[in-house]
Amino acid sequence: MSTDHTTPSESEVVVLDDGLPTAARVYDVMLNGKDNYAIDRQVAEASLGVMPELKEIALHNRALLHRVVRFLAKDKGITQFLDLGSGLPTARNTHEVAQEANPEAKVVYVDIDPIVLAHGRAILADNPNTKVVTADIRNPAEVLAHPDLRELLDFDQPVCVMLCGILHHLMDEEDPKGLVSALLDAVPSGSYFFITNFTRLSDSPESEELERVLLSQLGTGRVRTPAELAEFFDGMEILPPGIVPLPLWRPDELVTDATTIGVRFMTGGVGRKN
Ligand code: SAM
Repeated sequence: MSTDHTTPSESEVVVLDDGLPTAARVYDVMLNGKDNYAIDRQVAEASLGVMPELKEIALHNRALLHRVVRFLAKDKGITQFLDLGSGLPTARNTHEVAQEANPEAKVVYVDIDPIVLAHGRAILADNPNTKVVTADIRNPAEVLAHPDLRELLDFDQPVCVMLCGILHHLMDEEDPKGLVSALLDAVPSGSYFFITNFTRLSDSPESEELERVLLSQLGTGRVRTPAELAEFFDGMEILPPGIVPLPLWRPDELVTDATTIGVRFMTGGVGRKN
């Protein structure tokens, strides 16, 4: 592995290289990170072969995460963030953005990949308002009952539930809608949902081809139409500007060309539970 992190807290967690790629590490390749194996780089290369814009798209996804967390922490007074499928720590994580707006903001990261916990522990050792949990979000009851999550988050107060770049790793038969509805039931009104997903574009055969590559190489991949993505916001008020290509959601800078695949291949939005 091309990582050189060797902090003592990391050694508490054993991360086995079983020779298989993982979504967390493939995404790390896309973000030009160092925490990945050759097998992850192979999947990234195969995906980039189909859609060369994927690195740009990953950056749009991170940039939107930053804008949404900043907006909710600063303008909406949200103090609790549940970041599901959080990925490996990278440049500007949820807790950094949220705690910049409000140092008391609490963040729980959840990821299925234990490498996220290993790296998270290393960088969060001194941050009492942030925790990392290893859990499978396909089992929302288990996630919601996790003692670390319960210790930090108060479910009587609004929470921002983040499903950023994760639903396209859940197949329909894994019931991602049931997941969203279980989460919606668990949080009080005034809570927010932030969701992004790969988009099936009718004018881009690459979007379907990418789904095929992800499924065959990573074992997970579900590209959704904008209408399918909108169904995840059922029962919520959708904040303006709606469910849109990521760079178009309350951009910091003017988007000069919104027609490219790089701009349109991921769609997302923010919903509020009333
Ligand atoms: N949320 C981050 C972002 O948008 O920048 C990272 C997204 S990354 C593409 C997807 C993450 O979801 C990976 O770290 C992967 O390990 C995690 N993941 C995939 N399936 C999961 C599951 N069933 N439960 C929890 N995490 C999962």
